[in-house]
Amino acid sequence: MERVFNFSAGPCTLPLDVLKQAQEELINYQGTGMSVMEMSHRSAAYSSIITEAEKDLRDIMNIPDNYKVLFLQGGATLQFASIPMNLMKNGKADYMDTGSFANKAIKEAQKYGEVNVVASSKADGYAYIPEAPAPSADADYFYITSNNTIYGTRFNAFPETGDVPLVADMSSDILSREIDVTKFGLIYAGAQKNMGPAGLTVVIVREDLMGHSKDFTPVVMDYATEADKGSMYNTPPCYAIYVAGLVFKWIKNLGGIAAIQKINEDKAAMLYDYIDNSKLFKPVANKDSRSIMNVTFRTGDDDLDAKFVKEATAKGMTNLKGHRSVGGMRASIYNAMPVAGVEAVIAHMKAFEEANA
Ligand SMILES: *Cc1c(COP(=O)(O)O)cnc(C)c1O
Repeated sequence: MERVFNFSAGPCTLPLDVLKQAQEELINYQGTGMSVMEMSHRSAAYSSIITEAEKDLRDIMNIPDNYKVLFLQGGATLQFASIPMNLMKNGKADYMDTGSFANKAIKEAQKYGEVNVVASSKADGYAYIPEAPAPSADADYFYITSNNTIYGTRFNAFPETGDVPLVADMSSDILSREIDVTKFGLIYAGAQKNMGPAGLTVVIVREDLMGHSKDFTPVVMDYATEADKGSMYNTPPCYAIYVAGLVFKWIKNLGGIAAIQKINEDKAAMLYDYIDNSKLFKPVANKDSRSIMNVTFRTGDDDLDAKFVKEATAKGMTNLKGHRSVGGMRASIYNAMPVAGVEAVIAHMKAFEEANA
């Protein structure tokens, strides 16, 4: 069977070159006589894998030396708790409520301190990114979700937060566009959308923000400990880090994030252009807040949506069904989705529109 075009929101498609290299090295990694899965995380071979993965990530994202890169477990969701435990020195933080993951982060943070929801688009079905207000003077940090995976919205520009550290959940758009890391106090992302397999969470944190964790913070959630131990206080997600490392090299070889950003913008523009000119398909997200990673659209008729998704699957385009809370369709077109996949979905939309006009 051919590989499908997999539009899943995550876990999702990985670059074919990366999968092939992992396959080639699966049983005997570079003459070690064993798989990366079977290797001690303290071995010399593994030590170079994790060191190189960090170095490549630092290179492609241009991460300054005063930021630590942590390779952790627990998914993005564990960070909803880790962030307040580590950063809420004075017990207060500002949060923007721009989607269901932001909302979950808010609910989790409320267990550890005072959460100020400074803006929300919840009442409008999270269709747009609201204007960011100035941070509260006494906030320990200002929290955003840079790309809202479920609704298909993103921050085009990031809030200016002055001395208040900006914290961003970039799970679904890290490595998709150039960002200035120095504008952020902390960036984190689950790997399974744009970096690699599930099981790895990357945290990029400014050094001065560490070392203030609450006494009850579990040791594996304490950034200072993890930084001190090179993400190896305990066994890290070894194989996921290895595959993410291959993805970082894949991006480097493509010409870095600037090159991939251009491709991503072109892919998204193709799809949105079609939707904007279609008589059948309508966009879900407001134009000024559109994501270039998760493109949401619908016909307005649930049965027709279901038929579209079913016929797409039969043609080898899978997981186009929208999230159950939004309905309609969602095409997740992360870094690894080839242009041909976007062309295929547009061709299907055209044929479907003609057949169902
Ligand atoms: C997928 C996702 C999450 C949840 O990630 P897990 O790794 O499943 O915990 C959180 N935030 C955003 C923006 C996501 O896209």
